[in-house]
This record gives sequence, C-alpha cells and structure tokens, in this order.
Amino acid sequence: MAERTPSAPSRRKRLSLDAYVQGVLGSDRAVLGRAITLVESSVAADQDLAQELLLRILPHTGNSQRIGITGVPGVGKSTLIEAFGRNLTALGHRVAVLAVDPTSGVTGGSILGDKTRMNELSRDPNAFVRPSPSGGSLGGVTRKTRESMLVCEAAGFDVILVETVGVGQSETTVSEMVDCFLVLMLANAGDELQGIKRGVLELADLIAINKADQSQASANQAKQEYSGAMRLMRMKHGLWRPPVFTVSGLQNQGLDLLWGKVQEHRELLQQHGMLERVRKEQLKRWMWTMVDDRVLAALRAHPEVAAQAAELERQVLAGELTPTRGAQAILRAFGIGA
Ligand code: GDP
Repeated sequence: MAERTPSAPSRRKRLSLDAYVQGVLGSDRAVLGRAITLVESSVAADQDLAQELLLRILPHTGNSQRIGITGVPGVGKSTLIEAFGRNLTALGHRVAVLAVDPTSGVTGGSILGDKTRMNELSRDPNAFVRPSPSGGSLGGVTRKTRESMLVCEAAGFDVILVETVGVGQSETTVSEMVDCFLVLMLANAGDELQGIKRGVLELADLIAINKADQSQASANQAKQEYSGAMRLMRMKHGLWRPPVFTVSGLQNQGLDLLWGKVQEHRELLQQHGMLERVRKEQLKRWMWTMVDDRVLAALRAHPEVAAQAAELERQVLAGELTPTRGAQAILRAFGIGA
C-alpha cells in the first residue's frame, strides 16, 4: 500500500499514545501510516509524542532483515525492488520499502519519488511502500527513515528495504542503518559514467550487475571486472568478500540468488556475533551523529558566530590569520574556550 506524506501532518488530529502503540503493534495500516507521519513531523509536540511512541515499541523492534539498495538513477532500483519485494511476499515475508532521498523537497522534485513507482508492490497487502520524507537536511531525512524502520518492525514487517540514490553522503548514511548493503551496477557503463567512487564499493556487501537480460555476455564481463576489483579490497569484518552476480529486475532473473546471498551474509555475521555488534555500533553512531548535527547547526546559527564569520574567513584567506586561530575565534564566539 502506497503512503502519501501530507505536507502539514500536524493539522490532522493526533491519536492518543495508546492508540498509536496498539495500532502499530496490531499492524493496522492506517495507524502505521499515521505513526510514520508523526515520526516525520517537524512539529515539536509531534516529535515528543513520536519519541514516546518509539520508546514504547522499542521492545518489538529489531526483528527484521534490514537491506539497503543503491545505484545511480536509471540503474533499475524501483523495478528490482518491485520484483524482489513481490517474490518475498510470495514466500510469506512482510516487506516494507523506505527511502532516503535528501533531494526531495530541496530541489522541488526528488530523484527517487517523482514518478509512480512500485505499483504492484504498493497494492500487495503484505507490503508497505513509503516515499522518502521530504525536506530538510540529510540528517533529518535519515532520522525519520531510521525511526520509520523501527515503526515498521514493530508492525511486524520482517524485511525492510531502504532505497537510496547516490547523492552526497546518502549511501554512507543508508549503509549505516542496514545489515546488508546492495549496490546495483550496469554493464557497459564506465565507472565515471556511473558516478561510482571507490567509496561505494567499500560500503557494498553485495554487488549486482543489473539488466543482464540486455546482454548476458557484457553482464558477465562486468561481473568479472568488479569481482577483480573486490578481490583487491579488504574483507568486510575480516569475514566476508562481497560477491558479484548478475540480475535482471525486469525479468525477475537472479533475484532468488540475491535473496540467497543476503541469507548467506546474515548467517555468517550471526555465527560470529557480528550482526549484533554492527547494530550496536550503528546505534551509538546514530546518537552521536545527531549530536554532531545539532551542535553544528547551533554553532552556525549563533548570532555572535554569524557576526564574526565573514571577517574571520577574509582574514584567513588574506593570510592575516591562521586557520587554527580562526577556528579558535569561532569557537570562542560560540562560547567554547579553545
Ligand atoms: P531507478 O531510477 O534506479 O529506480 O530505475 P527504474 O527502476 O525506474 O528503471 C529505469 C529504466 O530501466 C526503466 O525504463 C526500466 O524499465 C528499465 N529497467 C529496469 N530494470 C531493468 C532490467 O532488469 N532490464 C532492462 N532491460 N531494463 C530495466
């Protein structure tokens, strides 16, 4: 079922905390949608209620397989998610699809959300498709998606797919909220064309060459090349060398293999106690990243800092002040003796 994000969530009457908790735990779709709207709201009263809701449902979270999916626009993410999600619901899974697209709401249009996507999956009673929260910084969008993931878990979704487009830091951010990170690639497109930085390969747990139906031969060749590149990298957690394989989201080819690889990766991490460790690390980082973001925002908004910033920048550029002294002056203006 596709969900819309109302532009002014607070206008709609809030439910009581108990009603949200019961609705979410009872997997009431309407309440689930409203609970996520609450989590996404930037109204202070909504945020307080959302935090209380999260605290109440926390014991019921963590039971899903969290899978991140990235790739350049046009690589076939939504087509693949549609087919993959349908395969999984056919196997009896309940699948939630969330997205992190920091461009939505900033540029007026979004890279992920400006077309009707995943029609079939949206209509599947065992799936829940939610577009990226719009507006705000990457940090804001990330918090909302992470918290929505918890709400979906409490509602009994056991597979969460988090889609992102490789804009700025969004890939890193999504890789830090999932157990398994899938990078989709195309054959016959140079690395530059795909905007692929070495960075994204380092984040990958799985690499799939998509659209193999167009030419299996070139997909195989790309597979060889990427496998070679991956052999040069360190094993993840000292355990796992990300496999490279070919798929076709459009033709539903190789998606059973993809699911098999997700399971293999999960079992290996579990055997070594790594899944729990990775998630704990992610929680700590999540908390501190939010602190970092807020402190930085407060610093930049501080009137004394704002008053001095331009002049300090000028002095640093003119060689009248070292960057270290400039930084000290900014921190002093913010009230931190450095
Ligand atoms: P996204 O921007 O990454 O979400 O990509 P889409 O899923 O919207 O797909 C972009 C285009 O590629 C669409 O025209 C799809 O029909 C096409 N496409 C997606 N997956 C495949 C595939 O596996 N094979 C082929 N031949 N075309 C595909």
